[in-house]
Amino acid sequence: MNTTETPQNVENLRFLPSIDALLRSRTAGRLLAETGAKHLTVLARSVIDALRRELLENAAEETEFSRENLLAEAEARLEQAWRGELNTSLKRVINATGVIIHTNLGRAPLSENARRAVAEEAARYCNLEYNLETGKRGKRGARAEHLLAELTGAESALIVNNCAAAAFLILTVLAAGGEVVISRGELVEIGGDFRVPDVLTQSGATLREVGTTNRTKLSDYERAIGDRTRVLLKVHPSNYRIVGFTATPSLTELAELAHRHELLLYEDAGSGAMFDLTEYGLGEEPVVSRSIVAGADIVSFSGDKLLGGVQSGLIVGRREIVERLRRHPLYRALRVDKLSYAALEATLEAFRKETFVEEIPVLRMLSAGHAELMRRTARFADRLRERTGENAALRFEITEGNSVIGGGSAPDVQPATALLSLRHAAVSVSRLEEQLRGANPPVITRILEDRLLIDLRTVSETEEEELLGILSVVS
Ligand SMILES: *Cc1c(COP(=O)(O)O)cnc(C)c1O
Repeated sequence: MNTTETPQNVENLRFLPSIDALLRSRTAGRLLAETGAKHLTVLARSVIDALRRELLENAAEETEFSRENLLAEAEARLEQAWRGELNTSLKRVINATGVIIHTNLGRAPLSENARRAVAEEAARYCNLEYNLETGKRGKRGARAEHLLAELTGAESALIVNNCAAAAFLILTVLAAGGEVVISRGELVEIGGDFRVPDVLTQSGATLREVGTTNRTKLSDYERAIGDRTRVLLKVHPSNYRIVGFTATPSLTELAELAHRHELLLYEDAGSGAMFDLTEYGLGEEPVVSRSIVAGADIVSFSGDKLLGGVQSGLIVGRREIVERLRRHPLYRALRVDKLSYAALEATLEAFRKETFVEEIPVLRMLSAGHAELMRRTARFADRLRERTGENAALRFEITEGNSVIGGGSAPDVQPATALLSLRHAAVSVSRLEEQLRGANPPVITRILEDRLLIDLRTVSETEEEELLGILSVVS
């Protein structure tokens, strides 16, 4: 760093605009309504300070700035600083990655009905805790809980902020001060820092590991049961697979063992399939209603993975246990808000009506077949060719590839898909990726070697037109 005041940079500093001058500029005038006057001044000050530092430090370069180009530079930076800030606020993006439950992109997109329920019903005054029949106080979340119980065949249901919160609440209420028995093969960390042993410790229960990483027998569980045992815990490993020489008792066997010793069986089912997803290659995902039939006393799962709804931890099980959870003070801290109830209700109604494959985006994307995606991508490529013309610098072809389930679900399932593989004659693939990311709305893509990949599986048909518009102007 060189901060010597040579004649040249002192000269440059003379033309550095004042904060006031920058605030009087056209750019500042245009931004004022968005930023507010106070914040605009803060931004202007930091832009001018940074410019002053650079002018002093870059003395060696002897750049000659005129009064005009320093002001223009400051205006450009002011705009950039504000746009950069806006980019950190929540913004819709087009997910062209082919990762269906993309944790960084907000996991599950909501169905039309769920979005309408949030915006039109819950976002206003609503009957959250008001009974319209009696005019008296009503039960919060009653409809969503009722639907959950009905759909899973459980006696009762409860909804908290996420699946981690559900596990924490359940273990705190059922096992604090006692022991929880779990197989060594299920002591996993799930994406987003959910670690089964840590949750157990926090809940005040003692972890009792049994068996080995790959094989745990019913007798291993049985030998571990003692006076302090409260719960047998079964965790779906979600994003982790042990393959080969493996064994683990069935849920039915575990339930029978738990009940013989007057203990409870709790299953953390993770993604929580509402129906058998074998057809889509997801046969290993626990189906919640089957866990209930098998005898689990309590089951928890996420609301925004395979269920395709909003972030939440869904709990179903025996009424007496659910009521104990509801009465615990921790539930008050972990419960969800009216917007989440509205989105969940609408999502669960689609399961009740059996219109989930058409209605719920996650399931629609999951069920899209390879042939269908090929047809859609070919049609999209034709339309793109029409827009860009024969001599366009954007080159593209359709290739075979795989989508990803994501969200810590089914790591070994990668549905076959069609990919639009792009290159640009004049622009590097990383620059192309950056341009699409900077578009409005931002388009998030994948890079594989020297190609940019677009997987239409995760792009809704209503976004195709926008995506075409954005792709046809990259250069
Ligand atoms: C994803 C997952 C969790 C965490 O769920 P969140 O809703 O992200 O809190 C917990 N347990 C299992 C088995 C999971 O798959």
